Amino acid sequence: MYLGVDIGGTKVLALVLNRDGKVLARGKTRVQQTDPDSVLETVRRSVRKALERAPGKTKIRRVGLGVPSSVRGGTALFAPALGWREVEIEKLAERALGRPVFVGNDVNLGMAAEYRLGAGRAKGTVAGFFVGTGVGGAIIHEGRLLRGEDGMAGELGHLIVAPDGRKCGCGNRGCLEAYASKTALLARIKEALYRDHRPSVLAQEVQPGTKMIRSSVLVRAYQRRDAVACEVLDEGLKMLGPAVASVLNLLSPQRIVLGGGVVEAFGAPLVEKVRRWAKPYVFGDRDRVRAVVPSALGDDAVALGAALLARHKGSLL
Ligand SMILES: [Zn+2]
Repeated sequence: MYLGVDIGGTKVLALVLNRDGKVLARGKTRVQQTDPDSVLETVRRSVRKALERAPGKTKIRRVGLGVPSSVRGGTALFAPALGWREVEIEKLAERALGRPVFVGNDVNLGMAAEYRLGAGRAKGTVAGFFVGTGVGGAIIHEGRLLRGEDGMAGELGHLIVAPDGRKCGCGNRGCLEAYASKTALLARIKEALYRDHRPSVLAQEVQPGTKMIRSSVLVRAYQRRDAVACEVLDEGLKMLGPAVASVLNLLSPQRIVLGGGVVEAFGAPLVEKVRRWAKPYVFGDRDRVRAVVPSALGDDAVALGAALLARHKGSLL
């Protein structure tokens, strides 16, 4: 059996899988502190919960770990969501869990899981946008994860959708992430509430010092037709249109998977909208926007990908 663990900025999810990739048990724990020691303690707790719930005797051979960071040689190079730089997470996790551990980037693992088990199954070229606190991206080209010369390929959140546009967390201007991420949406909501003094149901949830907002809160305000929520979300997420179309024009993939907290919370209506927003920018046959599909694995995608990584001893796609 294999363990897949997803380390996120707010929670750790551990899944126990059997050899056929079936989920036998899960354990989830909230992340309180994000320093490596505290996060590893949270990982241990999630793993313990999952193992307690697994049926029968479970012998875990290897553990896969997904981290929100670029990864090289078992080291998390930079994880802004956790405030990590150069953390030797593979070594630390092996010590904490007492088993061999394999570490990978969370978005790549989520995409690999969608490719093997989910929305992109058995398709040659697949790209994915994962919209949450940031906008993650990954590309699998003809069955291989596209890494590029330096491992930096596939950063779809940093496609330029507005030259000289808004400043992005990466330092550039006009990136998709500067418009469509929850970080960007929250900043716009604060402007509407506290600079422009507009009324909104979101005023209860969002104060000037609020650091993050739950996707479900955004969706609820949107569904209630709150003017600020509708305006900010439509304006920000609309930028997925040209970004998705650019990927279609560049790669002509068989699937473009949309996932992440925001997509999960909105569900099919958002996917339909993204198709509509992308359509005018598609080269040639515009009906190719049909390739845009929702993630099939949802919140489990990264942990499943991590378990696959463990199963294949660190070499995944
Ligand atoms: Zn950027």
